[in-house]
Amino acid sequence: MDFRGKGQRLFDMGIDQETVRFCEETEQSLTSQFTRIEQILEENQWKVLGAMQDQRVAPMHFEASTGYGYNDVGRDCLEAVYAKVFAGEDALVRPQMISGTHALSTALFACLRPGDELISAVGAPYDTLQGVIGIRPEVGSLAEMGVRYEQVELGRDGRPDVAGIARAVKASTRMVTIQRSKGYSFRHSLSIGEIGEIIRAVKSANPDCICMVDNCYGEFVEDQEPCEVGADLTVGSLIKNPGGGLAPIGGYIVGRKDLIQRCAVRLSAPGLGKEAGATLGVNRSLYQGLFLAPQVTAGAVKTAVFASALFQRLGYQVSPGPEESRHDIVQAIALGRPEAVLSFCRGIQKAAPVDSYVTPEPWDMPGYDCPVVMAAGAFVQGSSIELSADGPMKPPYIVYFQGGLTWSHGKFGIMKALQELKNDGLLQKGR
Ligand SMILES: *Cc1c(COP(=O)(O)O)cnc(C)c1O
Repeated sequence: MDFRGKGQRLFDMGIDQETVRFCEETEQSLTSQFTRIEQILEENQWKVLGAMQDQRVAPMHFEASTGYGYNDVGRDCLEAVYAKVFAGEDALVRPQMISGTHALSTALFACLRPGDELISAVGAPYDTLQGVIGIRPEVGSLAEMGVRYEQVELGRDGRPDVAGIARAVKASTRMVTIQRSKGYSFRHSLSIGEIGEIIRAVKSANPDCICMVDNCYGEFVEDQEPCEVGADLTVGSLIKNPGGGLAPIGGYIVGRKDLIQRCAVRLSAPGLGKEAGATLGVNRSLYQGLFLAPQVTAGAVKTAVFASALFQRLGYQVSPGPEESRHDIVQAIALGRPEAVLSFCRGIQKAAPVDSYVTPEPWDMPGYDCPVVMAAGAFVQGSSIELSADGPMKPPYIVYFQGGLTWSHGKFGIMKALQELKNDGLLQKGR
């Protein structure tokens, strides 16, 4: 037990020598993946920097506004920066959008009217959106307003059924929603190329149909964003990738100018639109977070690749695999038994900078059909760009995790999760 430096530090923090060695070997096998991640990081860092310089970001943009928030030049400039980075004509970036779900809901209600049809192009959407659409009955849903809904399932290979999407889109289809990230399902996440293919199929069936991409967890994972391949609206959460861990709240919508106007009046009130909305002092965090976002996202992707490689070496089924190209920051590991999910989540929790001493327990979260265990020790509540893990307590006992504000922290979290499984005698052996 007498080793020095990093080994000693990790030993003091509860990681044994065998685990350290196994992790280091794994990390060394990932140089080509890490080089690719860094290339994408550089491209995105310069993209964000260029947009900030073009818009002449200055200290005055960090001032707080109150009340109606008229003439909030910081807010307006930030929206111009987002429009540039995410390649749209205009943007809405607001702390009044309380989460990704709220931003997506705003865009859906802005575009859809009674009698219209909405199609989800890649199977069932993210859990919280099922309530918004009314797939799961909720007060105030789109279904309650008379918006019809259909979904095109993924093909048998787990890839988008592009021909099926083209067939499903009719003259009455007002909008198609395309979810980039797998969310909490074991499917593949969509590449920007696949998103472009889906959009081309939709537009050839109905050129007026609005294509919205749920970009949650996908920002800065590739060097292009959905509007660059034809999306009319790209929507996401600021407490995920683009907030860089610093945004304390918020959502964004980028895209066609006329649609952004509709979203703005839906968010505030008809006649008010983009001109109102105080920022209450959060502007600097939103700018600085966006500036750091490519770096933070790259760290989260490295963490995901590292975990994927580690658990694959141990014989677990992982999605995506360590060699596969990445389209979001989510990593799924099929742990196969409930105790292993609990153990993994305890390890992630013990590795957190905040609340490291608490023990995550499964609970009946609204909107889920089984108890879910969640590990998160975050500076911003619910922020999933910070290292966090979720495990629905049902077969096949998959744990989904994402984030890590720095690669070193993400790596430590995964080591700790592995060590916890080992200590509990739950590691799958013999493959
Ligand atoms: C997280 C997420 C959402 C919802 O975002 P919240 O900020 O949790 O409301 C929607 N879609 C996808 C794919 C997500 O990952």
